[in-house]
Amino acid sequence: MLIGPGGAGKGTLADELVAADPTLWLSRSWTTRPPRPGERERNAYEFVDRATFEDAVARGEFFEWAEFLGHLMGTPIPQPPEGADVLLEIDVQGAEQVLAKRPDAIVILLLPPSAEAQAARLAARGDDEEHIRRRVEKGRHEVERGRQVATATVVNDDLRQALGELAAIVARTRTAPPRAANPEDT
Ligand code: 5GP
Repeated sequence: MLIGPGGAGKGTLADELVAADPTLWLSRSWTTRPPRPGERERNAYEFVDRATFEDAVARGEFFEWAEFLGHLMGTPIPQPPEGADVLLEIDVQGAEQVLAKRPDAIVILLLPPSAEAQAARLAARGDDEEHIRRRVEKGRHEVERGRQVATATVVNDDLRQALGELAAIVARTRTAPPRAANPEDT
């Protein structure tokens, strides 16, 4: 899982990671949030209305879901291709739910290099000032709670360097013995 405050660069790095590694599969989330410019074209999310999302919750179709700044965000039960590892780009509430089901999952906390860089990245993607203020404030909480569940922390100052660090963590995870047994497997 890749977690971190808005403006840390999670989306870009998740896309780059899977582009460079065909055995890593990025889950596509559902959201009730309206699309930002270009997101529909990029298939960034499955954009649905609240009733459609809630119906899917009732049918048990989500692996995890959470409310984030008034919008519902959720991971459909992952269906990766045979042999691929699953990458989730989610918030800390979602990461906690996933860890409850899969204690062996790896959580990487991605941090922006500074509050200024974070605000600039949020502004560049078209968020208005009030939303940026709320995202920065919410981001502090994401980092605080994120540090408690993170297996590793990566600072996204230079994109290539951060990508290299993430790829190294993925490689280490694949060769390391399991961190914890999944209670459902025993
Ligand atoms: P954004 O509005 O920036 O796209 O996403 C807001 C927050 O929701 C981010 O922290 C993002 O990682 C998180 N998020 C995106 N998809 C999911 C999901 O499927 N589940 C959960 N719990 N959070 C998600």
